[in-house]
Amino acid sequence: MNDILPPESARWEWLEEKVRSLMARYAYRNIRTPVVEPTALFVRGLGEVTDIVEKEMYSFEDRLNGEQLTLRPEATAGVVRAVVEHSMLYEGGKRLYYMGPMFRHERPQRGRYRQFHQIGAEALGFPGPEVDAELILLADSLWRELGLTGVRLELNSLGEPHERKAHREALIHYLEQHAALLDEDARRRLHTNPLRILDTKNPAMQAIVDAAPRLIDFLGEESISHFEGVKAILDANGVRWTVNPRLVRGMDYYNLTVFEFVTDQLGSQGTICGGGRYDYLIEQVGGKSAPAVGWALGVERVLELLKEQGVVAPALSPDVYAVIPSAASLPLAMVAVQRLRCAGVSVQMHSAPPGSDGMGSMKSQFKKADASGAMYALVFGDDEVSRGAVTVKALRDGDGAQSEHPLASIEQWAPNLQSNR
Ligand code: ATP
Ligand code: MG
Repeated sequence: MNDILPPESARWEWLEEKVRSLMARYAYRNIRTPVVEPTALFVRGLGEVTDIVEKEMYSFEDRLNGEQLTLRPEATAGVVRAVVEHSMLYEGGKRLYYMGPMFRHERPQRGRYRQFHQIGAEALGFPGPEVDAELILLADSLWRELGLTGVRLELNSLGEPHERKAHREALIHYLEQHAALLDEDARRRLHTNPLRILDTKNPAMQAIVDAAPRLIDFLGEESISHFEGVKAILDANGVRWTVNPRLVRGMDYYNLTVFEFVTDQLGSQGTICGGGRYDYLIEQVGGKSAPAVGWALGVERVLELLKEQGVVAPALSPDVYAVIPSAASLPLAMVAVQRLRCAGVSVQMHSAPPGSDGMGSMKSQFKKADASGAMYALVFGDDEVSRGAVTVKALRDGDGAQSEHPLASIEQWAPNLQSNR
């Protein structure tokens, strides 16, 4: 679990701002659900025989009432719970997005943490392939707006339960014939959740898994036509994709379309975003049956990829550093600074360091002003202030031009100090 400190936190805010603006353009609305949910929600929703439920959940008993609770390992189950609890689909479908921390007890490594952050989008109540495509287009435009390149889109279709059942039988039969080559996880899952074996990260099993019966070959006409519908819209929009028949995703709740955005630049943690359709989850969680589709991206991985590709977020510097030579001018200076801030100018106040009497030398104040990255220093010298004025000094222009401005009309000249933040 990481502390996210400035200036790194500015990159997070920059990313979140981009996401908010994009979500607004796609008309997805923000939803905020608790980080703690009843354990049963995840066991029922994600599936008992999944990595998350079997070994990654932070679960505990509420000491006061004995309730079994879990720190959310993902947010879709919580969103669905909220949608059901508040009858949000009563008047039709809903498009929602969230951002926030998730918790999984994994082995920490680059791109894999125990508290990490996801941004996710969910469209609930819509059955058509155009909504799957809309969500994929939304993620695709996010990469573009962030300046990310080289992100590949992999698609697959998991079909419907009856198609998965036929495939499951063929898969078990095949895997039984190769039982000696299966690892412990796979042997345990052989009869409970064989599809999950295809999701293995064990290199020793790649060959068996590669030659296994493919779910996509078991799909019926309707599933195929849904899948073709998604692909056609992506094609029309010039979004490149490949079908990865081994893409199954980590939760049991998916059906039909599943997808991942992957990169080769983050080592083995190369999936930055994953999602798919989950038409049976709402009913599973106790709601009236309704279709849904969504994705979640890993914020740490996206930020890491941005770093890898040299994309820099604009630095957060104040517009102005307020230089205050003597404590006598503090009260007037602070009134002026307050008015500047109300007028939209970002101001970093000079404050006396501990142990000094007075405000510190002009030299040290200008050194701090320079280090702050501000475009201007405002010098509240006793002389200027007694004349009802302040000196504005350019810190970034070569010649350090300076001029006096009247305090009475701050609101009039304040906009000249404002960068376009
Ligand atoms: P992986 O196969 O890497 O374990 P996953 O299938 O478990 O990923 P999802 O549950 O689909 O991941 O979550 C969506 C995204 O959240 C992932 O694509 C990834 O970018 C990010 N993510 C998942 N687990 C972690 C983690 N422990 N630390 C950081 N990011 C994570
Ligand atoms: Mg995982």
